[in-house]
Amino acid sequence: MPIATNSSVPESLRSFLATPRKLLIGGQWVEAKSGKTFDVFDPATDEVIAQAAAGDAADVDLAVAAARKAFDAGPWSRMTASQRGQIIWKIGDLIEQNADELAAMETLDNGKPLGVAKAADVALAADMFRYMAGWATKIEGNTIPLNVPYVPGGQFHAYTLKEPIGVVGQIIPWNFPLLMAAWKLGPALATGCTIVLKPAEQTPISAIRLGELCQEAGIPDGVVNIITGFGETAGAAIAAHDDIDKVAFTGSTEVGKIILKAAAGNLKKVTLELGGKSPNVVYDDADLDTAIAGAADAIFFNQGQVCSAGSRLFVQSGIYDEVVAGVSEIANNMKVGSGFDAATQMGPLVSREQFDRVAGYLKAGLDAGAEASAGGAAIDRPGYFVQPTVLKNATTEMSIVQEEIFGPVVAAMPFDNEAEIASQANDTSFGLAAGIWTRDISKAHKLAKQVKAGTVWVNCYSIFDAALPFGGYKQSGWGREMGHAALENYLQTKSVCVSL
Ligand code: NAD
Repeated sequence: MPIATNSSVPESLRSFLATPRKLLIGGQWVEAKSGKTFDVFDPATDEVIAQAAAGDAADVDLAVAAARKAFDAGPWSRMTASQRGQIIWKIGDLIEQNADELAAMETLDNGKPLGVAKAADVALAADMFRYMAGWATKIEGNTIPLNVPYVPGGQFHAYTLKEPIGVVGQIIPWNFPLLMAAWKLGPALATGCTIVLKPAEQTPISAIRLGELCQEAGIPDGVVNIITGFGETAGAAIAAHDDIDKVAFTGSTEVGKIILKAAAGNLKKVTLELGGKSPNVVYDDADLDTAIAGAADAIFFNQGQVCSAGSRLFVQSGIYDEVVAGVSEIANNMKVGSGFDAATQMGPLVSREQFDRVAGYLKAGLDAGAEASAGGAAIDRPGYFVQPTVLKNATTEMSIVQEEIFGPVVAAMPFDNEAEIASQANDTSFGLAAGIWTRDISKAHKLAKQVKAGTVWVNCYSIFDAALPFGGYKQSGWGREMGHAALENYLQTKSVCVSL
C-alpha cells in the first residue's frame, strides 16, 4: 500500500518523512557538506518514502571533531555517572512514549510486521537503554595487593581505574535498525564515551529519530552524532579515522574484515558482530510440537534476516520426515505480506539487493540437488517478497549450507550419530548461535558445551535480553554486545601504583 493511503502510518511520521532528513553533528541538524541525499525505500512497495543526507568523509571529520570536543572538555565528561545514567534512562522512556511511531518507522523502512517491530525492536531498544542506565553508576576498578620482589619491604597502594575509551565509531546494519543503534549507543553512553553512529543506508530513519530523542533526553551536544550515508564512503571514513579510538561494527563478515584492515591505521580498538550459519539440533526425544514451531520461528523470524537465525536444521533420523513436514507446513501456511497488515507473519526482504541475493541462493541450492519441501521461489508481486522455504536433501558442501543466506531459507539435514552431531554443528566458519531441542538435560548441557557458538538456546530460540551477552566465536566476530560484557568494549583499564 503506498504511504499516501496507508492509514497505519501516523501523521507525525508522515511529516517527519516529508522533508529530507539531515545529519546530527555537534547538536545541530545539518545537510551533508556535499549537499547530496539518497532515497530510502519501502521494501513492501518499492516506493521512495524519504530522502536522507548522504554523509561522507568530510561530514565524518566534523562529527569526530564534535565528539572529541564533547569527550575532552564538554559537559558529558563533567557529569556524574548518576546524571549520565538518568539521561540514558530517559532515552528508554522516550522510546516507549514514541513506540507507535517508531514501530511504524521500522515497518515502513525495513518491512517487518508491525507487531514484531513494537514487541521486539522497540521494546528491546527501550529496555537496552534502561539496563545500561543502571550500569553507569556501577563501573568500578579494583584495589590490588602487590608483592614486588625487587623492592624488598616496598609498600604500595595499587588500584585500577575504568575509563571510557574515548570517541567511538559505530556502524550498524539494517535488520533491526533501532535495536542495533540501541545495542551500540547504550553501553557507549553508560561508560561515558562520545559517538559517531552510522546507520545502514537501507534503513536510516529510526536512527535519525533516535538522535532527536537523545537530544530531548538531555544528551549534550556532540555526544551522539549521526551520519547517514553509504558504507564505502561514510562507513569507510569512520573505520579509518585517526581520531576515533574504537570502532564497533555489526554487519557482514566480509565488511568486518575490511573494517579491521582500515582500523589498523591508528590501531583503534575493534569489536565485530558478524554473520552466522547457526545449527539448530532436534533430538528424537524432544517435545516435537514445540521443536517444530521453534525451528520454524528460528529461521522465519524477521524474514530470516537475523544473524543468529537457525539456518542449518539438524534432525535425528527417526523424526526427520515428521519435523521437515511440520516446519514445511508452517512455512506453507505463513501469511506473507505488508508488515502493516495485522495478519502478516512475514514481510518483504529489506532491499532489491537482498532479494536478488536470496533468490540466487534458492536457485543454487535447487540446482545442487536440494529439494524444496516448502517455498523455494520469489513471490511475484511488487516489493521484495520471497516464500518461506525449507530445503531438504541438503548436504554439507552446498552453498546453502556453508554460506549465510540472510533470508527465510532453512537447510534441513538428518543425523544418526549423536557422537558426531557436535562436529557437524561446528562444521562452519561461523559461531554465533545454536539451538538444541531435547527432553534429556544432560544431552542438552553436553552439546551446549561442545558447540562453538556465542549463544546456545535450549528448547527455545531467539531469546534476547539486554542482560544476556551476545556475540560470536570464529568468524562471527569479536567481543560481546549486551550484558556487562558489552561495557568492556568501551572501557580502558588504567593501573595506578602509589609508593607508600
Ligand atoms: P554490510 O556488512 O554490508 O553492512 C553493514 C553496515 O556496514 C552498513 O551500515 C554499511 O553501510 C556498512 N558498510 C558497508 N561497507 C562498508 C565499508 N567498506 N566500510 C565501512 N562500513 C561499511 O551488511 P548488511 O548486508 O547491511 O547486513 C547483513 C549482515 O550483517 C549479515 O551478514 C548479518 O549476519 C550481519 N549481522 C550481524 C549481526 C550480529 O549481531 N552479529 C546483527 C545483524 C546483522
